Amino acid sequence: MDNQKRFEEAVRTMLAIIGEDPNREGLIKTPARVYKAFMHLTQGYRQDPKEILGEALFSSTNDEMVLVRDIEFYSLCEHHLLPIIGRAHVAYIPNGKVVGLSKIPRMVNVYARRLQIQEQMTEQIADALMETINPKGVAVVVQARHMCMEMRGVEKICSTTVSSALRGVFKENIKTREEFFSLINAPQGNRF
Ligand code: ZN
Repeated sequence: MDNQKRFEEAVRTMLAIIGEDPNREGLIKTPARVYKAFMHLTQGYRQDPKEILGEALFSSTNDEMVLVRDIEFYSLCEHHLLPIIGRAHVAYIPNGKVVGLSKIPRMVNVYARRLQIQEQMTEQIADALMETINPKGVAVVVQARHMCMEMRGVEKICSTTVSSALRGVFKENIKTREEFFSLINAPQGNRF
């Protein structure tokens, strides 16, 4: 049996176990749809984030902070396969090389489209940047809502989990760190 058939069979089993009839009209195409959705939501396993960053590296004398704020992402928690909805803020200080700005959100989304733990994803984003562009430092903050907490009602509803990963000068230099946090916390109205 090919992979898609095996996946669909598993979804049919799940539907039957929760008390549904996998053969009723509304559900007949559901296993195929769930298969397609999951292949999309986990496409990050079949992509290499460092390769994406490596596609657009440029030499530069800039040594000021580069910040990409409010990168929206959708992920799935690895414990319950339920959505994690959030945004990431990613900054680095170049050390001779910069990366095309659009590559940073793409890289974030590669990690998001895998089964995740928020803290691990935060670290992975920071390490991928450190390893590919070798900057003076990297800072990543991820803010996210976890549907496994909210929908199951075990924890505070609508709470946001915040995680950060600091590398290089962001870790060593309090001024750099403060500049980063004040930039990501600046209210929307102060932006253009
Ligand atoms: Zn979970």
